[in-house]
Amino acid sequence: MAGHQVTPTTSSAAQEWAGKHITVAGLGVSGVSAARALAGLGARVTVVDGGDSTTHHERAAELEREGIAVRLADADTLPPGTELVVTSPGWKPGSPLFAAAAEAGVDVVGDVEIAWRLRGEQAAPWLAVTGTNGKTTTVQMLASILEAAGLRTVAVGNIGTPIIDVVLAQGRDGAEPYDVLAVELSSYQLHWAPSVRAHSAAVLNLAPDHLDWHGSMEAYAADKGRIYEGNEIACVYNVADPATERLVMQADVEEGCRAIGFTLGTPGPSELGVVDGILVDRAFVENRREQAQELAEISDVTPAAPHNIANALAAAALARAFGVPATAVRDGLRAFRPDAHRIAHVADVDGVAYVDDSKATNTHAAQASLAAYESIVWIAGGLAKGATFDGLVTASARRLRGVVLIGADRELIRQALARHAPDVPVVDLDRTDTGAMAAAVREAARLARPGDTVLMAPACASMDMFANYNKRGEAFADAVRGLASGRHPEE
Ligand code: ADP
Repeated sequence: MAGHQVTPTTSSAAQEWAGKHITVAGLGVSGVSAARALAGLGARVTVVDGGDSTTHHERAAELEREGIAVRLADADTLPPGTELVVTSPGWKPGSPLFAAAAEAGVDVVGDVEIAWRLRGEQAAPWLAVTGTNGKTTTVQMLASILEAAGLRTVAVGNIGTPIIDVVLAQGRDGAEPYDVLAVELSSYQLHWAPSVRAHSAAVLNLAPDHLDWHGSMEAYAADKGRIYEGNEIACVYNVADPATERLVMQADVEEGCRAIGFTLGTPGPSELGVVDGILVDRAFVENRREQAQELAEISDVTPAAPHNIANALAAAALARAFGVPATAVRDGLRAFRPDAHRIAHVADVDGVAYVDDSKATNTHAAQASLAAYESIVWIAGGLAKGATFDGLVTASARRLRGVVLIGADRELIRQALARHAPDVPVVDLDRTDTGAMAAAVREAARLARPGDTVLMAPACASMDMFANYNKRGEAFADAVRGLASGRHPEE
C-alpha cells in the first residue's frame, strides 16, 4: 500500500552475514529455509544431515544448484571453517556436531534466533506463546483477535510459513509491514534462541513431555521459561499451573513489565478469568481493584471445552497487553475455528457424538479432552513415549463408560485402568494395523449409549500405526462415516 514504510531489514543484516561460513544442521523444512535465507544474504552455507536416502539426495541436488553445499551421511563432524551452526529443532542438544562446535568455540543457534537477528529496527514486535499443549490453537486465536482489531499480523513459529521467511519478506521493497507477529515457540526453539525478546509472552501449561530431548523436567521448564526473558509489557501465566508463575518470577524482564494470570475461576486484580459464563479482564482496565471488562462469552469460543477457554484467555491477555479493544477479542474469538483433529466433532450416530482429538498425543492433552465430556467411550493407545497413565486414568475414571485400546503400548493403559478403574469395561483390540481403527469405532459404538461421546484422544503418538496424527484422525472419521452409513469400512 502506498505510503507504508518498508522495514529496513536486510541492508545491515546483509553486511553481518556476507561471506560468513555457516553450517546448517538438518535438511528438513526449517533447515532448507534457513540455508536459502542465509545464502541469499551472501553467507557460505553448508547443510549437513545424517540421511542418505533418494529424497535426501534430490533435495541436496536442488540446493547445490543454488550454490549451497550439502554433506549427507555425516551429521557428526563440523565442516572446517564453520563460524556459526544453525540447527533444526529436532536435533538433540547432546548431538556430536554440537559438541564439536563447542570444542571449536562456535555458537549453535536455531532458526528463531536467526529470524530475530534479521529483524530491522522498526520490525513488528512479537507476542509469543509456548506451553506443553495448546500453543497452535492459542496462537491462531491470538492472530484472529489481532486481525479483528484491524492489525496486520500472521501466526508463525512452530506453524505455517518458516519464521525466517516471514521476517525476510518484511525487508523486501513493496512488502507491507506487519504490525505484530503471533509467534508459537516450542521448547526446542526456545532452547536455541537466546536473544529473543518478546513484547509479551505466555506459558500456557507445563507437563512432562519431550524429556528425552531435554534430559530432565527442570531443563524442559528452564527452556520454556526463556520465553519471558526481556519481556517488555506482560508475562502471562496460568494461575492453575503454579510452575508457569514460578517461571515468571525467575525471569529477567524489562522495567515495568507486568505478571498477568489467567484462570477459569473469578479473576483477581491483574488477572483474566471467567464470571458467570463471561470472559472478563481485570488486568488491562483503568481501575483493576474495582473494575472488570467483559470480553466475550464462553459460547464465543469453539470448542467451549475448559482447556480451550484457558487458551482463549491467554490469547486475550496477550492481545490486551498489545492494546487491543475488548470488542476485537470477542469478534476474533467468534471468527476462530480450530485446526483439524483437535476435538473435531465428526458426526452423531444413534444419539452418540463421535469426536476426533487425534492431536491429543500426550496424557496432558488427553486429560484436558476427557474433562470436556461427561460420559465417554474412550479410544486410546499408540506410542506412549515413556509416559505413565495412572494420573490420567484416576482423573478421568468417573467419566468413562468404556474404553477401546489400540496400538503398540496399549498394555500400559490397560494396567492403569485395571488399577484405578477396574469396573470400566475395556476392549483390548490387540491390533496395530491401520484397519484397527474401523474395528475400534465399531467396538466403541457397541459400548456407547445415547448421550455419550466416543472420544478418540489417544494420549499417545500415532507412528506405530499411522504416518502421523492427521492420518489417524482421518481413519477415525472414515470409520465413523462408515458407521453412519451402515457401511463397514475396510478392516
Ligand atoms: P500444540 O501446538 O501445543 O501441540 P494444539 O493447540 O495443537 O497444541 O493442541 C494439542 C492438543 O492439546 C489437542 O489435542 C488439544 O485437545 C490439547 N490442548 C489444547 N489446549 C490445551 C490446554 N490448554 N491444556 C491441555 N491440553 C490442551
